Amino acid sequence: MWVMSRGVGVMGKWLGPPHDEIPRCGAKTRPGHPCGHYAMKNGRCRYHGGKSTGARNPHREIKHGLYTKEAIEDRRYVRDLIREARLLAKELEEFI
Ligand SMILES: [Zn+2]
Repeated sequence: MWVMSRGVGVMGKWLGPPHDEIPRCGAKTRPGHPCGHYAMKNGRCRYHGGKSTGARNPHREIKHGLYTKEAIEDRRYVRDLIREARLLAKELEEFI
């Protein structure tokens, strides 16, 4: 692991003069020159890290899980509503 003692803080934010031990991303950019952003632990900057970093915020996962559960319950509610409407229509047909 690299030492990020000086020059860069969290999320690659510039804090002062660069330090030789701070690694650069080095990814090839569209203009052709290598990316000069500071690399993260995976060796790439936050723009070129790809998908391998994964979810970092546990709250988001919890939120996502809750939303999924709510979404399923919403669909179930709508389905029950349609079923009840069908039953009601059937009863009305028999009544007529
Ligand atoms: Zn980069």
